[in-house]
Amino acid sequence: MQNYPLIINGQRIDSHQHSEVINPATGLPFASCSQADVHVAQQAIGAAAQAFNSWSKLSQGQRQEYCHQIGAVIETNMPELMQLICQETGKPMGGLNGVGAGMEVGGSAFWAHFTADLELPVEILQDDDSGRVELHRKPLGVVASITPWNWPLLIATWHVIPALLAGNTVVIKPSPYTPITTLRMVELANSVLPPGVLNAITGDGDVGNLLTSHPQTAKVIFTGSTPTGRKIMASASASLKRLTLELGGNDAGLVLPGTNLDSAMPAIFGCCFHNNGQTCAALKRLYVHRSQYQAMCDGMAAKARTVKVGNGLKEGTELGPVQNAAQLAIVESLVAAAKEEGGKVLCGGERLPGDGYFYAPTVVAGLSNGSRLVDEEPFGPVLPIVAYDSLEEVIELANDNDAGLGGSVWADDLDAAHALAGKLACGTVWINDHGAVQPNMPFGGVKQSGLGVEFGLEGLKEMTSCQSICIKPLAPKPS
Ligand code: NAD
Repeated sequence: MQNYPLIINGQRIDSHQHSEVINPATGLPFASCSQADVHVAQQAIGAAAQAFNSWSKLSQGQRQEYCHQIGAVIETNMPELMQLICQETGKPMGGLNGVGAGMEVGGSAFWAHFTADLELPVEILQDDDSGRVELHRKPLGVVASITPWNWPLLIATWHVIPALLAGNTVVIKPSPYTPITTLRMVELANSVLPPGVLNAITGDGDVGNLLTSHPQTAKVIFTGSTPTGRKIMASASASLKRLTLELGGNDAGLVLPGTNLDSAMPAIFGCCFHNNGQTCAALKRLYVHRSQYQAMCDGMAAKARTVKVGNGLKEGTELGPVQNAAQLAIVESLVAAAKEEGGKVLCGGERLPGDGYFYAPTVVAGLSNGSRLVDEEPFGPVLPIVAYDSLEEVIELANDNDAGLGGSVWADDLDAAHALAGKLACGTVWINDHGAVQPNMPFGGVKQSGLGVEFGLEGLKEMTSCQSICIKPLAPKPS
């Protein structure tokens, strides 16, 4: 079994301890990685702090060129990275609506190139007889990046490229469930970067905690669950680190009365079930006007029954397994709760046979807010569909949740949808789409879904601090 080393100061570092990484489609290990401890994590932070001295002094153009080169090595190594993603996450190579390992690797390269072209020019806020005010953007120092298991390469790219572009150096720690693609990507990136600029270590809470509390870490960018986000905020508070926290979501989708279901339904299905519902901004609660409720439930269940679930390496597979046994247990417990609370399981509702963590795509009717499946994030292939009677009611139901990541309104009448969009308490609202992030559009959560934004210029600015330079002319010499 191949072992993947840590990457510190441009070197491949093997450790005494290795941990096996399970392919969720088989339940068996397919590779291993070197295991970091807090001592190794300290070395990585030290290497990044040392590299910051020269990296931060490069010109914007030089760092743009390096970031383009990272995009290029991801592109060049696409087949290998796709295989690794497929095996460690379980997501198919192609996937439902083309959302799979190919999209993750291609999207990462595209994102790297797009972000590399962003610029942070000096802003002139005032320039007149009384003085000149300039706003400069300065790098912060060492950025700690901590990532989850659902989109390991894409989320790593979202963290790393803007951090480096702004002049910071990085230590990244992927999820212990999916460390391999990140270690390999960082190794590839180190073939073009100066040593120490981008380092990758492994581990879980203890190593994560060191990164988020270490005095030499200036910022933490974290994507993961809300409970871990809270721990990170507490740990980072002693040294007042800057934070970007992209946390859990439980996004509502609202289907307005009279919507053409023939065209909306297939799109909605993809937004709920792609990557097995294991996407932060997947559509996780679907609210449908009572006049179309039955038709929507019937259509979604019929589609769910036809989806090809299996090993993602097999051509034609649309959905793979749930990524890990703990997440599968959450899915099972929420479906069990739904049954006890009077929910009607229209399809699925059980594990599929075999050794992997497969769960049948599941649609549940007859629940509303207050039941666990509606209130909590399943992060799996399970969708509750809820009936509503009025627009006032549906806005209230959609906003009645601690999470506030994304939301969507589905309608033929775009003006009617737009009128509702601003009433949703979440960071992004899509109309006739859901969860489609793009590199020019800031993305982040409100309420318990996080702090700050990623992507575009707003995301890049979060990797910097402001320095205002205020220039006043001296009073003329008295004659
Ligand atoms: P998780 O919070 O369990 O783990 C995420 C990362 O945090 C892992 O690398 C883990 O090792 C690390 N970690 C654990 N304890 C830590 C600690 N005390 N200090 C520092 N790091 C620690 O999340 P997960 O199960 O990997 O991911 C699923 C969750 O992520 C879901 O809730 C999902 O909605 C959310 N998510 C959010 C976004 C977003 O952009 N908002 C994107 C993807 C996933």
